Amino acid sequence: MSILINPTTGEELDHSPASATPEEADAAIARAHDAFPAWRDVAPGERARLLRAFAAIVDDHLEELAQLEVLNAGHTIGNARWEAGNVRDCLNYYSAAPERLFGRQIPVAGGTDVTFHEPLGVVGIIVPWNFPMPIAAWGFAPALAAGNTVVLKPAELTPLTAIRIGELAVEAGLPEGVLTIIPGKGSVVGERFVTHPLVRKVCFTGSTGVGKRIMAGCAEQVKRVTLELGGKSANIVFADTDVAAAAASAPGAVFDNAGQDCCARSRILVQRSAYDEFVGRLETAVRSFRVVDPSDEQSQMGPMVSSGQRDSVQAYIDDASVAFTGSAPDGPGWWLPPTVVESRDTSEAVWREEVFGPVVAVMAFDDEDEAVALANDSDYGLSGSIFTSDVGRALRVARRVEAGNLSVNSHSSVRYWTPFGGYKQSGLGRELGPDAPNAFTEEKNVFIAH
Ligand code: NAD
Repeated sequence: MSILINPTTGEELDHSPASATPEEADAAIARAHDAFPAWRDVAPGERARLLRAFAAIVDDHLEELAQLEVLNAGHTIGNARWEAGNVRDCLNYYSAAPERLFGRQIPVAGGTDVTFHEPLGVVGIIVPWNFPMPIAAWGFAPALAAGNTVVLKPAELTPLTAIRIGELAVEAGLPEGVLTIIPGKGSVVGERFVTHPLVRKVCFTGSTGVGKRIMAGCAEQVKRVTLELGGKSANIVFADTDVAAAAASAPGAVFDNAGQDCCARSRILVQRSAYDEFVGRLETAVRSFRVVDPSDEQSQMGPMVSSGQRDSVQAYIDDASVAFTGSAPDGPGWWLPPTVVESRDTSEAVWREEVFGPVVAVMAFDDEDEAVALANDSDYGLSGSIFTSDVGRALRVARRVEAGNLSVNSHSSVRYWTPFGGYKQSGLGRELGPDAPNAFTEEKNVFIAH
């Protein structure tokens, strides 16, 4: 059993769930396999009704789930409410999928040809600690809607909301074994999802290093795999934009969730003629960013999730030339202030590596080509932002930046009804959006001779 700590206070939580043993993981996978045929055969309208009932019960417990996340992960209460609401919304959105899991009828000679989307069986979902609720739902909602059963492993540090959501699924009427939460270690439970032949697909969200290992493991059985990995996203600010607005919005785009966000815009590229104005305004915005107790309704940023994460981020700060910082509480808990670094060399670790904390590096560029080249000079390609008042430039640059999720004159967060995923080493496959249920099916072709 690993002891859970409240990141805001450094105090132990009352309840730490036991980690599953390999035998317990195998037994849960076997139960999910046993539950699959009946769940696959639930009539589409009834499966839809059960998912809506699940969404409704999550909604009834929204505040409880949000408070649990503040306690376990140190998320601000505002974010935690949004995250619990996102679980509800994903379930409602994908509750429309069972009746719309269409195949096609394809013209052929001598007969009729039709395709079916068949569920895979047991799907294993591995979740990181940074967004425990949404990332769980982005996997289980479309997987269940497509007729699969799900085993889900939350991160060691943040299992509490997933466990509660698993209980709510049963209360909503989902049959036993359809959604099973298995808290435990990545090296035990997560590995078992990869090696167990009854798990037919693995959805992994986490670090690129572990993701590569999972992809290699899945290759052994040609197991389906979706990877959502790290990022080092660029926020590109052209001089023709409203510089004040771009600077005011930049802190939220990187310091939200204390920078522990795979989509964090942790590199800011600013056109040289606007650089000084932008950095001046950014300083004002960063100094007023409210880093306080996450249960405070006004809090914009809470602590790091763990002392280990804080130490790893601090090491990047120690090696960088810090331009200015915001504030953070003294005393117990895993706090760091929002930190801004001015980078001049793209080989600096703080410029290249995913810091996964409240640290942003700013650099100047001269023209559009240089901005695109700098943005693309990364092994990652998850998201990014483009600030310009020139619509042509916005579209040109958006087409050229190698990233799966871009926003123009905004830092849009992930929407459950639009596709999400990464280029290059940020991932493989897409989650969310209208096509997500198909990623949890095999497309079967049937020819009927006349
Ligand atoms: P991590 O890779 O250490 O762990 C993620 C999950 O994988 C945890 O549940 C962990 O227990 C499990 N795991 C660890 N080793 C495993 C193994 N050998 N086999 C199977 N499972 C294993 O990542 P983390 O530190 O929890 O999360 C932070 C990382 O996640 C960051 O790199 C971040 O960018 C990434 N992330 C990506 C997205 C995205 O959608 N692209 C979203 C959130 C987080």
